[in-house]
Amino acid sequence: MTDDLTQLTIKEASRLLRLGSISAADLVTAHVQRIERLDQHVKAFLRFTPEVWEKQADEADRRLRQGDAPPLCGIPLAVKDVLCVRGVETTAGSQILKGFRPPYTATAVARLFEAGAVMLGVTNCDEFAMGSSTENSGYFPTRNPWDLERVPGGSSGGSAAAVAAGEAMIALGSDTGGSIRQPAALCGVVGMKPTYGRVSRYGLIAFASSLDQIGPFARSVDDAAITLSLMSGLDPLDATSSDRAGMEVLNNFGAGVKGMRLGVPREYYDVKGIEPGVKSAIDAALAVLRTQGAEVVEVSLPHTDYGLAAYYIIAPAECSSNLARFDGVRYGMSEVDAPNITEQYLETRRKGFGSEVRRRVMLGTYALSSGYYDAYYLKAQKVRTLIKRDFDEAFKQCDAIVSATSPTVAFPIGSKTQNPLSMYLCDVLTLGGNLAGLPGISVPCGTSHGLPVGLQVLGPQWGENVVLRVARSYEEASGVKTQVADVV
Ligand code: GLN
Repeated sequence: MTDDLTQLTIKEASRLLRLGSISAADLVTAHVQRIERLDQHVKAFLRFTPEVWEKQADEADRRLRQGDAPPLCGIPLAVKDVLCVRGVETTAGSQILKGFRPPYTATAVARLFEAGAVMLGVTNCDEFAMGSSTENSGYFPTRNPWDLERVPGGSSGGSAAAVAAGEAMIALGSDTGGSIRQPAALCGVVGMKPTYGRVSRYGLIAFASSLDQIGPFARSVDDAAITLSLMSGLDPLDATSSDRAGMEVLNNFGAGVKGMRLGVPREYYDVKGIEPGVKSAIDAALAVLRTQGAEVVEVSLPHTDYGLAAYYIIAPAECSSNLARFDGVRYGMSEVDAPNITEQYLETRRKGFGSEVRRRVMLGTYALSSGYYDAYYLKAQKVRTLIKRDFDEAFKQCDAIVSATSPTVAFPIGSKTQNPLSMYLCDVLTLGGNLAGLPGISVPCGTSHGLPVGLQVLGPQWGENVVLRVARSYEEASGVKTQVADVV
């Protein structure tokens, strides 16, 4: 019975909670027991927060008894280690922030708490969200629940793995170049990146501020939609947040795809390195969508080839500036034995940052330095504009864009760590959405060699409801349900 409670969707769990057949404490206990059994293998969590979940579950049960339960009352939630939670150690997967306990809570998390969610713990990720496999974590790698010898994707690999393993019902991640959608694809769960500005970034430890967005992981499109709607909307603490109503993401999203035009960009469909098994899963998904009444049309995103290069200048440039604040004086670890303050900065950063973060800071500093700024950073920004225009043109011909989320299924641990470029190539189908600020989802679409494949749906700016509509229609018609992975 307790394991059954870890296979539920929000809708199913909420029904049982409201009927009084189970309590929030039962639901949380079932997840905690599953964590105790499985997380020694999966290693999705960096830390657990019993002091938080006990209080929140009690409060949820009190509200259920009073009959004023909010929408996520009692729902077990995992939070990526880049989102500040007051009093809970938050380290961005980095040794440099070891011991840092933020004095405030990120708006996205606070809104889910208000909606009744119960936080189980903090999930592992690549250090400062830089990576596609969670192997760059400053603590330990997370494993894919479908095959423990493989990566869960990244950078939000811990959140994706926790949901896939039935250790949490929903989880939060951040997506700068694909870090929600790619791990969702590799772990066989739903993951959504909203339009830039839909969700407040207040309390998110910044990687690349013009690209970062927070979004949900869930086991169904409905669950992702409801979670996203509850965390969206204007926040005076983030000047880039939009005043659009959070609930608009749900508009008409159950209407099906009949009469919709779905664009398949030829540059994405035939992207270099795409595995045949991934391609056939996408072909099958397109056939399902056609059967549901969608018209599938070919579109073009001509600057796709330049996306990766532009992203790997812009993201490191912004990171080199954002990460300057980690100097050993204000946050986390500090190398106090240094002979002077300059040495203290240098030693703290040398010891506290891992090699990928140091690489990005150096790349970014170089791209921004005088003499190189025009050649690299400015040029990359121009390419970004061209990519945005490609999407604008494509959306004149279609309502949404569909493709694979990742060119490959989950790869073996260690297989890409020696070659940064091979790791960067994981993002080739997702980072365009970040450069253009668009909403995107990854929804499970079958398997290749027994490993999950993800279908990506991208929409126009503020078109979350369109994206969700396509994803939901596919999920319903295909019968491909998110399964809780059988870990051991
Ligand atoms: N894998 C990409 C990178 O390393 C994207 C990471 C992300 O979306 N946070 O930059």
